[in-house]
Amino acid sequence: MENMELKNFWEQIKSELIEVLPESAHPWIYPLEVSGYDKGVLTVVTGQLMGRDLLRKNHYHQIVETIKKFSGNNNSDIVIIYDERAAKSLKRENEKIQKRTLENKLKEQAMENLSNMQSASNLNLKYKFENFVVGKTNEFAYKVAMAVAQNPAKKYNPLFIYGNAGLGKTHLMQAIGHYTIFNNPKLKVKYTKTEDYVNDFISNSRNSKDTVENMSKFNKKYTNIDIILIDDIQFIESKNKTMSQMQHTFDSLYNKGKQIVITSDRIPKDIPTLTAALCSRFEMGLMVELTPPDLDTRIEIIRKLANDNDLKYTEDALKYIALNFDKNVRELEGAFNKVSAYAEMTNRPLDINLAGEVLKCKTGTDKVSIDKIAQVVAEYYGVDLKDIRGTARGQKVSLARHIAIYLAREITGQSFVNIAEYYNKKHTTIMFAHDKIKKELPLKRDLTESVREIKQVLKVI
Ligand code: ADP
Ligand code: MG
Repeated sequence: MENMELKNFWEQIKSELIEVLPESAHPWIYPLEVSGYDKGVLTVVTGQLMGRDLLRKNHYHQIVETIKKFSGNNNSDIVIIYDERAAKSLKRENEKIQKRTLENKLKEQAMENLSNMQSASNLNLKYKFENFVVGKTNEFAYKVAMAVAQNPAKKYNPLFIYGNAGLGKTHLMQAIGHYTIFNNPKLKVKYTKTEDYVNDFISNSRNSKDTVENMSKFNKKYTNIDIILIDDIQFIESKNKTMSQMQHTFDSLYNKGKQIVITSDRIPKDIPTLTAALCSRFEMGLMVELTPPDLDTRIEIIRKLANDNDLKYTEDALKYIALNFDKNVRELEGAFNKVSAYAEMTNRPLDINLAGEVLKCKTGTDKVSIDKIAQVVAEYYGVDLKDIRGTARGQKVSLARHIAIYLAREITGQSFVNIAEYYNKKHTTIMFAHDKIKKELPLKRDLTESVREIKQVLKVI
């Protein structure tokens, strides 16, 4: 028998003995420690000499019967050894096993809670902090969300996360939920889309004989929690009753010191349906904005996607996709998935040529303007558009400006005067810039490469 098994076997016999033997024998039974079992013969050790003798003398038969009952072995027997030191060390050993069993049970319980909560609170397993790529434009929101997760209702309450679609609001919000579930499993988290909350309220408040009971259930569901995550509050209904219910939910949670996290595609003031009372409540804590990630962050986001899926890719493919999808991470991910699916289906490498082919046919070619070229070049070099159009003299800015001017002429075929107007410069300056790049191109490989990449983004190759 394994140690654990033996221990359990003995525990069963022991409890049975406590049942069947008179109370006077209990003080001798309790300290018995099991040390072995072989073919029906159970060996126990005691530190009490008197205990050993009394059990042998008065209860031997009963003990053997009990062992027989649990072992199913007709030749069962009991050997009681007196050994003070052995008894002590066995006791320690058995306590350890007991503790381990208890710990395992607790762990199992925690895992069970977790999976219950996860499905009950509607969280998407991908939306964790670890899977959120942090860059300049989302660093603050990320840190604030993390602070809220670490100290719910202590710092920023409510936390109001806003920004355009596809920038990671739901992801960050649910990350707070996951963090809590894993690190503080005693806290109850509820994630709800505003739409679901509204529908739930409407169906429960409908007049019926059970309305009172239904509403009390509804209230419990949304206020008997420690952290509420309300997604896309811009979809709140303008009906008065819905508003006052939301206010009620908010106030009862807030007054109990519970954390409230809300997302929206705009600030509270710009949600026309929102009452002034709710608006001022939502503005009470901290409002953080998510803006589109910069190029490097966008590249890292799809790189992570590729790595998580063990996909091979070329650097220029990532850059190409990231340059083309700069406003919405969901679309960025969608574009990457499309290219990688295509690569897999056609057994081709995931490189810039494939990306160009797949995505070009999807987005179609807009007419490329001088302004569009300047924007893309600015982003490609990581400089500000206004610097390119201005007089800044840094090396990077100058290079970007020259290339943008060169491409403007080459791609749009507009006159130097028109291009000069856009750049607010003399047309001779524009001509000079254009000629400079034209001469350098055949001589510098990295310049040629950059121009090719930019042209690919502009879909003019
Ligand atoms: P929103 O709620 O703002 O519309 P989501 O949270 O649904 O946006 O994000 C859209 C998709 O983009 C999700 O798959 C999300 O995981 C992903 N995403 C957004 N921002 C990031 C980021 N910084 N790092 C990794 N994935 C991101
Ligand atoms: Mg969302």
